[in-house]
Formats: sequence, C-alpha cells, structure tokens
Amino acid sequence: MTPSIVAYIGLGSNLNDPSAQIKHARTALQSAEKIIETRFSSLYSSPPMGPKNQPDYINAVMAIVTSLLPTELLHSLQTIENAQGRIRGEHWGSRTLDLDLLLYDHCQINLPDLIVPHKGLQERAFVLYPLQEIAPELSIPALGSIDDLVASCPLAGLKKQS
Ligand code: ADP
Ligand code: MG
Repeated sequence: MTPSIVAYIGLGSNLNDPSAQIKHARTALQSAEKIIETRFSSLYSSPPMGPKNQPDYINAVMAIVTSLLPTELLHSLQTIENAQGRIRGEHWGSRTLDLDLLLYDHCQINLPDLIVPHKGLQERAFVLYPLQEIAPELSIPALGSIDDLVASCPLAGLKKQS
C-alpha cells in the first residue's frame, strides 16, 4: 500500500473565462484517481508575468493527499491541462489552464521534466499568498517558512477575489 503524501497544486488561467477554468480544473482534480482534496484557496487575480499583452490571471492553490508518485501526479496534471485545451506556445504566454506541482511532501526533485519545489515559487505572489492562506504553518524545503517567504514577496498587483 503506497503511503498518502501531502502535495500542493498551483492552478492558473487567463483565457476563456479564467474563473470557470479554475473551477472546472478543481472538479477534474477532485475526480482524478488517487487524489483527495483537503483544502482549496480563494481565487486571486494578478497581472501577467512576462508578455504584458495578455489578460490578467486567476490563480488558486489546492492541497491534496495522494498515493501517486511525483511523476504520476505530474502526468495527471498534464492530462487535465490538455483536456482543457491548453496549447503550448510562447513561454509564459496566455493559457487556458496551467497546473503546477508546487510541493510534494518535503521532497526536493530535480528531474529533466519535474522540479519540486516548483521553480520560482519563492518570488511568485500568486503562489505564496494562496499557499499561506491554506497552509499557514508550511515550511518549504531549502526555502524556509511560508510566513518569511510571503513577508519578502511584494503583492505585485495580486488581489483576493471576494
Ligand atoms: P510555468 O508553469 O513555469 O509557466 P509551463 O507550464 O509552460 O511553465 O511549463 C511546463 C513544463 O514544466 C512541463 O514540460 C513540465 O515538465 C515542466 N515542469 C517542471 N517542473 C514542474 C512542476 N513542478 N510542475 C509542473 N510542471 C513542471
Ligand atoms: Mg506549468
């Protein structure tokens, strides 16, 4: 029997009704094999990183328990991204759905197609603030406490949706 692991998924969208995309992805994750949702953050809006000629993003973070291995979990996330019409184009360009494996237990993973903690997590307000909302006691491998990370990360236009 594979043990249950706590993991955190980052959800983002800036195309085709982003809030609906996030809600749809949440439902897909809830129905996915070997994934159980334990917490889901508020929705947050933020201006785009990278190219500015694209709509604002809606982001959220989900806490899960899972018995999937990290690469299996990444594969499940990519299946859901693809099902919601993600077309891989410009780096940091518009996307209907982006699902990132932010954290997997206390593991540090450095595979060619999977880096955990997710790259850039410590400088992304749209990841750190929702993460702190659902996991205020969190400590991130090699990076420290979520409170300290949030304290050194400006909001950069991030807004919690009512
Ligand atoms: P970003 O999420 O930084 O905007 P993309 O979603 O376009 O970038 O990047 C997708 C690629 O990132 C995938 O090919 C995937 O293999 C790789 N990747 C590496 N680490 C992770 C991770 N922790 N979660 C999701 N994708 C990852
Ligand atoms: Mg991604």
